[in-house]
Amino acid sequence: MAAAAAAALALCLFAAAATCAGAQSLPPPPPPKAYDDISSCLLSNGVSNFSLPSSPSYTPLLDASIRNLRFELPGVGKPAAVILPASKRDLRRAVLCARGASLAIRVRSGGHSYEGLSYTTENHVPFAVIDLANLNRVRVDPGSATAWAESGATLGEVYRAYVGPSLPDEFYLSTYIPTGSSNGNLSMSFTGQVLGPKHLAMSVLNQTFPELGLAESELSEVSWLESAVKFAGLSSVADLTNRQPGAGEYAKRKSDYVQAPISTQDTIKILRYMSSGPPGSIQLDPYGGAMARIGSTATPFPHRAGYLYSIQYAVSWNASDLDRAEERIGWLRSFYGFMSRYVSKHPRGAYVNYLDLDLGTNDWANATGGTSNESVARAAASWGERYFFTNFDRLVRAKTKADPENVFNNAQSIPPLRYDREH
Ligand SMILES: Cc1cc2nc3c(=O)[nH]c(=O)nc-3n(C[C@H](O)[C@H](O)[C@H](O)COP(=O)(O)OP(=O)(O)OC[C@H]3O[C@@H](n4cnc5c(N)ncnc54)[C@H](O)[C@@H]3O)c2cc1C
Repeated sequence: MAAAAAAALALCLFAAAATCAGAQSLPPPPPPKAYDDISSCLLSNGVSNFSLPSSPSYTPLLDASIRNLRFELPGVGKPAAVILPASKRDLRRAVLCARGASLAIRVRSGGHSYEGLSYTTENHVPFAVIDLANLNRVRVDPGSATAWAESGATLGEVYRAYVGPSLPDEFYLSTYIPTGSSNGNLSMSFTGQVLGPKHLAMSVLNQTFPELGLAESELSEVSWLESAVKFAGLSSVADLTNRQPGAGEYAKRKSDYVQAPISTQDTIKILRYMSSGPPGSIQLDPYGGAMARIGSTATPFPHRAGYLYSIQYAVSWNASDLDRAEERIGWLRSFYGFMSRYVSKHPRGAYVNYLDLDLGTNDWANATGGTSNESVARAAASWGERYFFTNFDRLVRAKTKADPENVFNNAQSIPPLRYDREH
């Protein structure tokens, strides 16, 4: 999915190289003018939709898209402003005003970042959140079978206008196993989607997984849109365009990839480890199918042929257990350590959508990060190659071209190579 013109500026500056044609045709932005405060700059440039910490609207606006409540707590640094651009023009001005006020920029689309990177800073620099919630247009062109979605659009908004490594392409079957057990037993649930009629699902699954003892009454035939509603845990199609996604949670997550089947004996060891754990879960998502037919270097995402499934590890807790957060995160890290013998190696892969700052972080000291060749090497050796393998080098080259001064940066943003103004 590509971003529409209104959001393309921000997207291109972060990572994309191939999709930047629209943004490259824009005139170069004027140098940012220094303002004492971002508010005067925004107002004098006609951007009125923003909120400062002194305003009653500030906390509701900031918290509206926070999905991981760990990053809503009072000890977490808060932005100097939350800005909601209503247009491409507003977006460009918001970026320039934040730079002019020496604020780091955090761009927020859905706010789902597992590590809160769209609305926090790890390096304690003053920052502004530019929230793209109002840049949410989706345009579908059936003629060219192309959809353009602005980055603020929710998946529900996009859906309103993809199965197991050894199952047919039309099948997706994921496995969810909660951790922690009082009697040593663990339950396992399977959630699946088949792009086809019930009888296809019945015949293929009864052949490949007779152990499931699937009954026809356990299957429902629904439209694709209704299945998206079910996967998202919503109650109706109308909820797809509701931006208030319900309660967030306090959580920490990590990820892995499995390339060789884990033996039954080893599976028992893993389940024993999990049964002694705190409340949490693992989710296994199958790869293969169409994903495996795309080359590992064709797009930034490298986990293609030879990857059987991903593992998402999670622990969560309630507001009443805040004092147990570190203990739970500690357990998750030990479990991740235990799993190292069963998962991909050299490098041990990780899924970039399941952002995990344990893998390593950039160490930018300023609002606009600056860079050094050491930063690039450190990022590559820690999180860069684990998310992207050798594609990381190409992302660095694209970033160096698109955002040489590293205006858009965060704890795990792609670092540009050192930039020399003379060249
Ligand atoms: C409840 C929940 C369910 C999830 N389910 C899945 C799932 O099924 N499959 C899956 O793959 N992932 C899943 N995820 C992970 C999710 O896909 C990623 O966190 C994804 O990055 C979320 O996008 P966002 O726009 O909501 O995030 P945000 O938090 O808004 O942004 C994520 C990062 O991208 C940057 N960014 C945002 N907008 C722009 C822009 N326009 N230009 C440049 N940079 C930008 C932000 O600054 C931040 O660093 C889930 C997350 C949650 C919380």
